[in-house]
Amino acid sequence: MGVLTSEKMAKVVSLCKRRGFIFPSSEVYGGLNSCYDYGPLGTELKNNVKQTWMNSMVRENDNIEPLDSSILMHPKIWEASGHVANFVDPLIDCKTCKSRFRADQLETSVCGQKPSKTPKTCGGDFTEARSFNLMFKTFMGPVEDSSAVVYLRPETAQGIYVNFLNVMTTSRNKIPFGIAQIGKAFRNEITPGNFTFRTREFEQMEMQYFVKPGADVVAFESWKEKRMKWHIGLGINPQKLQFHEHGPNELAHYAKAAFDIQYEFPFGWQEIEGVHNRSDFDLKQHEKFSGKKLSVFDEETKQSYVPFIVETSVGCDRAVLTIIVDAYDEENAAGGDEDLGPRAVLRFSPKIAPIKAAIFPLMKKEGLPERARKIYDDLKMQFRIYYDESGSIGKRYRRADEAGVPFAITLDTEPGVTVRERDSMLQERVSEDALKARLNDLLLLRK
Ligand code: ATP
Repeated sequence: MGVLTSEKMAKVVSLCKRRGFIFPSSEVYGGLNSCYDYGPLGTELKNNVKQTWMNSMVRENDNIEPLDSSILMHPKIWEASGHVANFVDPLIDCKTCKSRFRADQLETSVCGQKPSKTPKTCGGDFTEARSFNLMFKTFMGPVEDSSAVVYLRPETAQGIYVNFLNVMTTSRNKIPFGIAQIGKAFRNEITPGNFTFRTREFEQMEMQYFVKPGADVVAFESWKEKRMKWHIGLGINPQKLQFHEHGPNELAHYAKAAFDIQYEFPFGWQEIEGVHNRSDFDLKQHEKFSGKKLSVFDEETKQSYVPFIVETSVGCDRAVLTIIVDAYDEENAAGGDEDLGPRAVLRFSPKIAPIKAAIFPLMKKEGLPERARKIYDDLKMQFRIYYDESGSIGKRYRRADEAGVPFAITLDTEPGVTVRERDSMLQERVSEDALKARLNDLLLLRK
């Protein structure tokens, strides 16, 4: 029962739908609670985020390798990881309005019958809290009995742990090294909501860094800083980012230390990424449950040890939502566009903008569409761009602004083109021959 607590969120959701970033899933059937589909612009944006993340891991670090492990894994993995026993949230039911709530999130939830009240202050009749396991269960094969139970993974990390030796030996890495993976995860959240912030199916971008015991504290500090820089590098306003350290009561059973990176959403400061020092808990558990050694041999001390793990885990959908919310802006129009009303603009960094440039012939005559098409064909394999010849130029700029397109190229009957920058709305004149090089510069200059 998520709540869109502000007008800004409502505007973001509406823009996402209108412009093809994010649609409610199964919409023609009335939608499916908390499931969403990424439209053309959303898919491009999400892909850019994933590519930027993967590059920041495997290209910037010689000792990080990519992995793509399966969603369905041996059920014992989830016993070893602690998910079967501990991946639970406290659930309470309201017998009055038939809503379900997380008992630890009552202050931020909304009564199903009286939306101005929180559960418990609404006077409803509540059950005692009971533990609810968040893993989705299914059956493998035709027989639906307990021996066929498998789970949809609730995190991608375990696929990394059980492949740790495979990756280390085949990629000829030595400790310290990391494994980076992007993939779907599933959690049967009791209270999904706030648009794509908390959903039951989502994508994670997780990197597990394996270090010698004792080297974990330095690695942890270093990854904390690197991950904060990554978010800032995507153009997120640093004032709206902060670390939140987990106190002793918040720390997960496996964690030696944990920091969240939080963003200030319209609905409050919320986690977008977790950086955890997981100690040697995971590999030791898998050793215990699988009976296989997951230790490495130290040439210096001539002794074997089980590596410690530093984890960085960011939700791809949450990162995309953060980028959209942070980029969303409205301002009063100027420069002759006043009759179109205030302009809505997504101020995406060009690095992740789904579309880098738009091409507009001023008129549909005097050879302008042909010239514009030629420029479009010349650029389209290098940049994701689009061509638009319909409507007034003001309306075309507005459409491009709402899609977060950093540069709009306009042709008139004069030689050369005009390049308009989305945020400042300043225009510069560029010759057609110099356009590709100039666009490259502009896209790089404006990180
Ligand atoms: P929360 O406290 O918000 O439930 P968590 O601490 O359980 O999150 P982790 O298990 O650390 O989250 O997962 C790592 C990241 O995965 C989170 O920082 C978040 O970006 C993302 N994530 C987790 N659960 C969801 C969800 N239900 N929907 C979307 N993204 C999620």
